[in-house]
Amino acid sequence: MREDLRQQYLQAMGIQVWEPRGPGPETHRDAEMKTAESNTRPLAVETSIRTPAREDVSQLDWEALREQVSGCTACELSQSRTQTVFGTGAHDAEILFIGEAPGADEDRQGEPFVGRAGKLLNEMLFAIGFQREQVYIANILKCRPPGNRDPRPEEVVCCEPYLKRQIELLNPRLVVALGRIAAQNLLKVDTTLARLRGHCHTYPEGRVPVVVTYHPAYLLRSPLEKRKVWEDLQLIHRKLNELKEN
Ligand code: URA
Repeated sequence: MREDLRQQYLQAMGIQVWEPRGPGPETHRDAEMKTAESNTRPLAVETSIRTPAREDVSQLDWEALREQVSGCTACELSQSRTQTVFGTGAHDAEILFIGEAPGADEDRQGEPFVGRAGKLLNEMLFAIGFQREQVYIANILKCRPPGNRDPRPEEVVCCEPYLKRQIELLNPRLVVALGRIAAQNLLKVDTTLARLRGHCHTYPEGRVPVVVTYHPAYLLRSPLEKRKVWEDLQLIHRKLNELKEN
């Protein structure tokens, strides 16, 4: 990447630029592009989770799926939500970003990542050459957990078929999981984010490549980690180009 562009992107993300004294051990990330199966531990299957009797959504088109989601009452989050947050973006997007669940702003506006974290996500997108409208953005959950608590396993189970169908319809070249919760639920592992970053994984249901990075809300709380996100963004950029060439 051109140096002037790199500087521009770093600035847009609010990253202070330090010039390295020499090549450090973290600069050669290509070696880490191999799949990371040896680094991940499968999540124990929670057998007691109730799978709701619900309509099969595996054949629905975008419009029918959105309608199905908006009327969903499969879990108790339907009682506290203002509205469902289906997802947004281009239906031919080559890259899909997946967050955790809607927060208060998203619950109010019906669109994912519209608050402060969303603004930072837009800057991350800009850093790899995308406008928000050119990608697709969705969440593991379609409804806001009260008080922004973590999603519960039974809620994830209820919402899973919707996201799975979105991924099938979109058929993206690459999925980016934003944060630990999104990554662990998508990949069905309980591995830490630190170990999931820097590698290319595979979405188990559809054989789609998945890269993991920090959640923008975490970056707002820990701005020093933005440097690592810059590494992840470069991995995403490289991986996407690689996938386009094949
Ligand atoms: N955090 C998320 O994970 N998703 C959103 O849509 C907003 C904040």
